[in-house]
Amino acid sequence: MIDGGTEGFKGNVRVILPGMNPCIECTLDLYPPQVTYPLCTIANTPRLPEHCVEYVKVIQWPKENPFDCAIDGDDPQHINWIYEKSNDRATQFGIQGLTYRLVQGVVKNIIPAVASTNAAIAAVCATEAFKLATSCSASLTNYMVLNDLDGIYTYTYEAEKRTDCLACSQVPREIEIKDSKCKLQNLIDLLCERPDMQMKNPGLTAIIDGKNKTLYMQMVASIEEKTRENLSKTLIELGLRDGTEINVADVTTPSTVTLKLRFLQDDSASQ
Ligand SMILES: [Zn+2]
Repeated sequence: MIDGGTEGFKGNVRVILPGMNPCIECTLDLYPPQVTYPLCTIANTPRLPEHCVEYVKVIQWPKENPFDCAIDGDDPQHINWIYEKSNDRATQFGIQGLTYRLVQGVVKNIIPAVASTNAAIAAVCATEAFKLATSCSASLTNYMVLNDLDGIYTYTYEAEKRTDCLACSQVPREIEIKDSKCKLQNLIDLLCERPDMQMKNPGLTAIIDGKNKTLYMQMVASIEEKTRENLSKTLIELGLRDGTEINVADVTTPSTVTLKLRFLQDDSASQ
């Protein structure tokens, strides 16, 4: 797999030989979590047109639910609604520069593209494809970065496989639990927030006392209802112990992954 991407003046290319060098998941923590604006700024002290759009997207849309569905960034009616409401808010706070295009950009998280960066990265991708197809030269090993913001900076390095990678390794990744009162909801939040996981809505099962138990699963409504009460229980109450392996299914991983719980010594308990 040849992967290339750009963000403004920055770009990167990598060549992935499955099983031989690192996969996307191995280096997932290189991808920064998405930029979000602090909620207090959006709600109380908006300064940028983006803050107004974000306010309508995060607060006003769920409250007024104008079309009885989630926001579809490709639906002009939705963008229009958000544009009008954002405009009202921008006027109220004396903020200039709100346009339909900007609204669409914020809603769809569009980052402006720089043509020269895209061209350079596309050229490297095409060269790598040619090299693999013809064996005329060795492939890129294995990660190249480009920055053409101030002159041109480029560098290639060899990224390494993660021995406990969720996708390409069989070794379960360990999850450290620092607080013995950690609830199942806290664990799920952790799986979603950790830069090396970034899950969306993980479903969790574990073998407890020899029985396979579903801890929480959002995908199926009837199971969600039956397991919802587990969210507010602590991991200890659910029968999970140091070394327990939990199986996690999530849209972000191709197959079920196994995570091993590691309960760290809780200082408050020993004092
Ligand atoms: Zn991997």
